[in-house]
Amino acid sequence: MNTNEIRNIYCIGRNYRLHALELGNEVPDEPLVFTKPSHAIVPMNGNVIELPGTAGEVHFELEIVLRIGRDYEPGMDADTCIDGMTLGLDLTLRDVQSKLKAKGQPWLAAKGFKGSAPLGDWLSYPGEAALAEKEFVLVRNGAEAQRGNAGDMLFSVSELVKYVGERYGLGVGDIIYTGTPAGVAALKEDDRLLALWADNVIGSCSVKLV
Ligand code: ZN
Repeated sequence: MNTNEIRNIYCIGRNYRLHALELGNEVPDEPLVFTKPSHAIVPMNGNVIELPGTAGEVHFELEIVLRIGRDYEPGMDADTCIDGMTLGLDLTLRDVQSKLKAKGQPWLAAKGFKGSAPLGDWLSYPGEAALAEKEFVLVRNGAEAQRGNAGDMLFSVSELVKYVGERYGLGVGDIIYTGTPAGVAALKEDDRLLALWADNVIGSCSVKLV
């Protein structure tokens, strides 16, 4: 999929228990949904990604990203609606986010900056059951930083598609970042990141803080 064809970027916050807890957040009782502008998207294809270096910590959050291939209609099951998947980073200005949260303000400045949504290569969607049979891993500078499994999501892919589709709408070209497992931390200059799905690298980049 050409990144120009991506429309709405929905993201789910706190969808893995251990990640919610590591940031001192409560585990939500319904999906926490936010969006990013499409200008946040950058590829993860061995490139250098330039990120804000003067606004405090930039945290990595590796997530399964789903691509909508058919317009959602009430009752449509997720496996019909979704046609692709990849791994992506929901990059977050964590210090900025903490200030926004304290003031009760929206997260755009923390989550929606240019380059905040790197995406790996698209794969065909295996279906919800098969999705949970494999793990996704973020490797930073040769060491494992995050490991996740869709089976650990607090709200399953089916629940997310229904929730987002009914409230906000889901159409062809929309994507959903489904939340990050535990292990988030601040990026450093020249970090090299690999996103692995079932031991295959489907995205890689290095970091430049400007
Ligand atoms: Zn996230």
